[in-house]
Amino acid sequence: MMMAGDASESERETGVVLGFLEEAEPWQLLSAQFPSKVGGKPAWLSRLGLPELPELLCEKCQLPLGFLLQVYAPIVGFERSFHRTLYVLCCRTPACYTRNDNRCFKVYRSQLPRKNDFYPYDPPRDEEPADSGDEHRLLSSGVKLCWLCGCPGQKGCSRCHSVTYCSKEHQTIDWKQRHKNECSAEASSSSEVPNSFLFPEWELVTEPETHPVKGEESLDSKCLEQVDCASSELEEKELESMAHHESQDSKVFQKFKKRIAPEPEQVLRYCRGGAPLWVSSEHVASTADVPKCPCGANRNFEFQIMPQLLNYLKVDRPDASIDWGMLAIYTCTDSCDQGNKYSLEFIWKQDFSEDQPC
Ligand SMILES: [Zn+2]
Ligand SMILES: [Zn+2]
Ligand SMILES: [Zn+2]
Ligand SMILES: [Zn+2]
Repeated sequence: MMMAGDASESERETGVVLGFLEEAEPWQLLSAQFPSKVGGKPAWLSRLGLPELPELLCEKCQLPLGFLLQVYAPIVGFERSFHRTLYVLCCRTPACYTRNDNRCFKVYRSQLPRKNDFYPYDPPRDEEPADSGDEHRLLSSGVKLCWLCGCPGQKGCSRCHSVTYCSKEHQTIDWKQRHKNECSAEASSSSEVPNSFLFPEWELVTEPETHPVKGEESLDSKCLEQVDCASSELEEKELESMAHHESQDSKVFQKFKKRIAPEPEQVLRYCRGGAPLWVSSEHVASTADVPKCPCGANRNFEFQIMPQLLNYLKVDRPDASIDWGMLAIYTCTDSCDQGNKYSLEFIWKQDFSEDQPC
């Protein structure tokens, strides 16, 4: 993630870069601008080696995943990752979001050297290009994309042959929402009818986190004392371990709340090689929980997605909902090239503790 290196001297930076959402013009979120963004369709970096079905199916419900967000995060000093973008996809079925279960997510990494087949050597100009084509439907490499979700989709409409989809499911959704009115129409230049499969689209902008001014330890110690020890029916040992567990969890949660309080709108925290900010003491990823990259290198923490993002996604329903406490993304420490393909990386889902005391 790009950040301006001009923080004033009076600010103490923590090394974490925070992500916030802002509105943007559609062209600012196209791939040539190397955007970080949430929602809409993915802006694919490399135009070859994209992930596709059946790899993009949710492991729980077996429906195609949808695009959640992407983070442009080049690694300075490495030619192969001069351009580098991480993509997070997630399932749109609320019932798949079970506790501390990452099976309804996938993360991919794409990277390119500065000299590559798809983008100019020099940085893009900050103005709308004269002709940006329609990269959400057809990549310049010839890869056809699904008109609903923006992931690779080769299956054409059998009547008009002018639209393509990744799956029967997405063709059906798009037919009902839009295409049945346009399939036989002559000018099928097609309107951008709102598409209920996509999340609302935002630009992800960043700024460095600065250190809170004072009162570093005060909250943590207070919360430790709020443990209820009244029940006499429990054995002493059981009670002890419960109290210990609760106080630990409360401590972690208080630390989380305190750390984000100065910037409550943050939706993402980026710190490659740093440590995640956990929301609970339960289901914390250990080194052994994070699988190595197929290249043999370890994977390190790179960024986390915050629960605040949910407020922007319009996913709330009374019964069940797409939900998380936090999502931690771990990536290859070598940022290896896997034969110019998008590389699968690792995501960890942590939910809030069920008995959050505070
Ligand atoms: Zn699912
Ligand atoms: Zn699709
Ligand atoms: Zn058609
Ligand atoms: Zn690797």
